[in-house]
Amino acid sequence: MIERIERLQRELAAMRDYHQGYLERRTRTGITTSTDTVMTQHQKTLEETLDLLEAMKAMLLTERICASCGEPETEKNPLISCAQCGKLVHEKCTANISKEEDFEVIVCETCLERE
Ligand SMILES: [Zn+2]
Ligand SMILES: [Zn+2]
Repeated sequence: MIERIERLQRELAAMRDYHQGYLERRTRTGITTSTDTVMTQHQKTLEETLDLLEAMKAMLLTERICASCGEPETEKNPLISCAQCGKLVHEKCTANISKEEDFEVIVCETCLERE
């Protein structure tokens, strides 16, 4: 999720810089066309989207995320720590690998694959 946001941020920033260069060249000519007006509005939308993405990223970074599926913690799906690697994972993303019946060893899917 974070990687997707960061990729989008880079693409949008490149687009914004490109538009900015274009608009600056246009300003120097002193003539404003309807395309320039639309471009200026697009610039504003781009800036806003970039701000929003930055806020989303900050939110995601403070949120507890499951190490297995990458989804955040919810009331219905609380995170527990894996008995082997200690990473936080959803209960639904774990497995009990204990050989004894009345004993539980809860591990994440990554550790389960390593078993
Ligand atoms: Zn999960
Ligand atoms: Zn683990």
